Order: sequence, then C-alpha cells, then structure tokens
Amino acid sequence: MNKEKSRGIHDVLLPEKVAIGPGLSDAARDYIGGLASGGRILFVHGRSSYLKLSGILSGLALDDVEIDAPPSLAEVQAASERLRSPRYSVVVSIGGGSVIDAGKLLSSRLNIPSVSIPTSLSHDGIASPRASLRSNNGPASMAARVPRAVFVDLSVAMSSPHRFVAAGFGDTVAKKTAVLDWKLASEKGVEEYGDYSAALAELSAEHVLRASNYIAAGSEFGLRVLAEALVSSGIAMAIAGSSRPASGSEHLFAHALQLLRPDAALHGEMCGVGTIMMAKLHGIDWEQIRRSLQEVGAPVDARGLGVADVDVVRALTIANKITNRYTILSEGLSFDEAEKLARSTGVIR
Ligand SMILES: [Zn+2]
Repeated sequence: MNKEKSRGIHDVLLPEKVAIGPGLSDAARDYIGGLASGGRILFVHGRSSYLKLSGILSGLALDDVEIDAPPSLAEVQAASERLRSPRYSVVVSIGGGSVIDAGKLLSSRLNIPSVSIPTSLSHDGIASPRASLRSNNGPASMAARVPRAVFVDLSVAMSSPHRFVAAGFGDTVAKKTAVLDWKLASEKGVEEYGDYSAALAELSAEHVLRASNYIAAGSEFGLRVLAEALVSSGIAMAIAGSSRPASGSEHLFAHALQLLRPDAALHGEMCGVGTIMMAKLHGIDWEQIRRSLQEVGAPVDARGLGVADVDVVRALTIANKITNRYTILSEGLSFDEAEKLARSTGVIR
C-alpha cells in the first residue's frame, strides 16, 4: 500500500459518554432525562431486561418495543416505518446483544441518538457501529449508528450467568487473530491496514488475557476489564469504519458454525474456539489462548460448544465462503486439512 497517497476525509463518530461501574441507574436516568429534554423515549428491551433495569426510565414519557431474537432487515424496516410518529428524541436499549443491536439500527433509521445499557458482557456490540441481523443465509451484519452513550452497570453484569462473561472473553480474545488476518490482507494488497485501530483491538485482547484470573472469578475488577475491552473493540471498529479490527477468520468460522448449527452456542463461545485454531494457522501461541479460555470457563472444543466434530470440520471448510473478506482461510481448507487442524488443537478428538 502506498502510505503517501491521500486517503481523503476519514469521518469517525464515537460515543460522547462511556460509564462503567456498579450501580449506574441514577447516573443513567439523569443523562437520559437530559438527552430527551422532555421529548418521548423509544425504549427497546428484552423480556427479562425489562424487569431488571426498567426503573431507570420511571417517570419519563416512553413507548416500548420488546426484542427476543435478532431481527431481520425487513422487521427493522417495518418497525422504523411504524415508529416514525410520534417523533422520538432518543432510543434507550436495555438488554442483551439483540436488544442493543436493534436499538442501534432504530437509532440509524429514525436519525436520533441512542443510549446502550447492556445487561451482559457477552459480545463487543455494546459500543460498536455494527449490528447483527437474521437472514436466510445465516447471521448478517450491517452498519448502524454508534450509541451516543454507553452505561455498563457492573452490578447487573455480575448477576448475569458466568457463561455470558466467558463468551465476552472469547469474543475479545478473537481480536488476536482478527488483526493478523487484516495484516495479511494488507500484505496481499487487497486492503489498507489501519495501524491505530488494529493496535486498539489488539490491546483489548491483551487487556483481558492479562486479567483472565479475575475474569474467571467474576470479580468486579475482572468484569470492569472485560467491559473496557468490549467498549475499546467497538471504538476500534468505529475508528476503522468497519468490523475489520474485530473480526477475522475466527469470526468467519463462528458464522459458518452458526449457519450449520444455529443456537448451539453463543457467538463469543464459537469465536473463542475459532481463535484457538486460527492462532495455530497464523503461527502464534494457540496453546496460551486455549488455556486462557479454559481458565475463564469458555468452551475449547466441539463438545463444549454442543456440536458434533463433523460440524466443526465442515464449518472450517465453508468459512471462506461466508464473505469475501480476505483472511488466512481465503484459499480454502480441504476436509482433510480442516480435520487435521481441529484435531491438532484438541477441538475435536
Ligand atoms: Zn464478535
């Protein structure tokens, strides 16, 4: 890549406020009240998150939308048409991944700011400019507006099942190989490498790897480190203007596996197992990644993911067909090569 060439204007939108800590309800209520400034709030929530934190919005004028699964593009379009009037001043999303993503998409469509209040730390969509959608070809992702503010209440995250924390750890460790895939694409001359956003994504992986024992224990410090890393990864995507720094071959494996076995495991759990195998392909210390995942209680093999060995092998062979993003899997793996890789890393027995 010619580094002297003008890259034109690089427009970056970031959250104006990120608050991480225990007991943030009052701070969130004050902020949202100020942002809404008397206008109506569109409250996006899941079934259980509604009960957990809905007190934040008590006394404010709102209408609510319940989200129980990733929406399809058609559903988002229909909802945004239906919700054009009355005119809302802010979207507030309280819940898990699908809720936060739906909130970001509605914020883009309705052209109003959003506030993300995640109730679990299972993935890095908390502060990112991307949202996952359901489609006939498996999970898809599209651009969405970065939240204006993010409140991560650690007391709520600490009361969520540890499985979500372990999945968030897997989604963060994944940046190790995502960044290497990006570098590879740049060496091939197919994509420009963003040193700064790549360094930030890599830092979030290093940050959680260093604190793995605290995250394993589910302590407030450990969850704070994980929350910071998830937010940093979202910000790396916002700076890059794409999911490139946060999603490489390990994510393509996870998407492929989800296509073959929908709902078998959480996104971050599949990404963690993908990272073990992609780390081996990239020639970095895959055993350390495997040990860290094991330490925090994340799955490290097909059994842990609740899938058959053959599903893992098949996912590896089709991962390069999920998108045209260049990664270490782009040349394709034969069934035998995939089986050998999965076996040599202990993912299948
Ligand atoms: Zn991810």
